[in-house]
Amino acid sequence: MKMILTAGLAALMGVCVQAQTLDTAQRQLARDVFQQLIETDTTHSTGSTTSAAEKMRERMLQAGFAPGDMEIAGPSTKRMNLVVRFRAEQSDAKPVLVIGHLDVVEARRSDWTVDPFVFLERDGFFYGRGTQDMKDSDASFVTSFLILKKEGWKPKRDIILALTADEESGGENGVDWLLKNRRELVDAAFAINPDAGGLVTEHAKPVEMDMEATEKVYADFQVSASNPGGHSSRPVPENAIYEVADALGRLERMPFPTELNAVTRAYLEERAKLETPARRKLIELVLSKPMNQIAAAQLSADAGYNATLRTTCVATMMQAGHAVNALPGAAAANVNCRILPGHSPEEVRQRLVAIFHDPRLKVEFKDNDGSLHATATERAAIAPPAAARGRDEASEGDYAGDVAGNSGGSGDGDGGERFDLHNGCGHPELRFQRHGN
Ligand SMILES: [Zn+2]
Repeated sequence: MKMILTAGLAALMGVCVQAQTLDTAQRQLARDVFQQLIETDTTHSTGSTTSAAEKMRERMLQAGFAPGDMEIAGPSTKRMNLVVRFRAEQSDAKPVLVIGHLDVVEARRSDWTVDPFVFLERDGFFYGRGTQDMKDSDASFVTSFLILKKEGWKPKRDIILALTADEESGGENGVDWLLKNRRELVDAAFAINPDAGGLVTEHAKPVEMDMEATEKVYADFQVSASNPGGHSSRPVPENAIYEVADALGRLERMPFPTELNAVTRAYLEERAKLETPARRKLIELVLSKPMNQIAAAQLSADAGYNATLRTTCVATMMQAGHAVNALPGAAAANVNCRILPGHSPEEVRQRLVAIFHDPRLKVEFKDNDGSLHATATERAAIAPPAAARGRDEASEGDYAGDVAGNSGGSGDGDGGERFDLHNGCGHPELRFQRHGN
């Protein structure tokens, strides 16, 4: 792995020393791939990951990958994945899998100051849907494969690149589909997924390289109320909108409890060193046992720290009422939760019921396909073990031979997405960018 990272992927991650190894043509190639991906609509509603997969396959073919080492496969015509195998000369070791999703979050033109599907460079930034999540990384992978293949380089074990569908939304998650239907294509010793963590810069200097040890579990819940309705000229106490609004107000005022695990504790210890003295003090108080809750509340004013310290649940959508002059017969809101390892969606659903504290309300689990269920799964993500320090060579035994899957949707929110194209060396460069799920 070290070989790949230094020869290819890291070079495209914008590691300063490596940036100099890319010549002009290689930089142009990286940019072209990036542009092609950005300008291929891969949203769930109107886009097609198949289209992006075919374009990348064509580039791989031209670079010399054998047709038999590539496969476009998936559950439906618009949700195909591309899997490319970079063959080792000869190796008994299990392959390494690198995964990146091709799909992007929906992007409404009216929410953006520029066209989200036109690749634009302006004032030191790239603009376009997917510039951060995660066509930048996809472009890094593809370009690395193209360059290394053309150079005649051979890995010490097979490297599999899987560019996948439906990570952000929809029920046809590419990683899930591949694992269930074409496991042989992606079977590997371990997987690298740059869809989280990455390099954090301050004043153009890299200060932090985040790696993800586990993920919060994604879950949607619907809280709903219904009552007989009536005419708005004769209001009655029962009002579905008030009932749901009250519940959401309670949710806003009652955050989930703080909790640290071995990894978030180690992360905060390291992170504190990079913070201002005041912030560092707050983190130290949060790390004290028992945790200082006043400090935790202050630190939680930062959305990133808040999400690190607790399970979060937030209202994201509402539907209610049917006429301006009628009492609402129904109201419903979507509550989106990101659940800390060690806790199940059902546990969180029950906590929401307790927070809402209103037996008139229904609190249901909403599946990826939109279907509603009275209860959620009891399955919890495993809390991660403490990070092992000082290990730089990964051995297969450390990784349980499993594949890290993409999980629930990561949202970029609205208002656009852009990518800072200046790395620490001051050159335009593709690099990994930190972004939250
Ligand atoms: Zn992503």
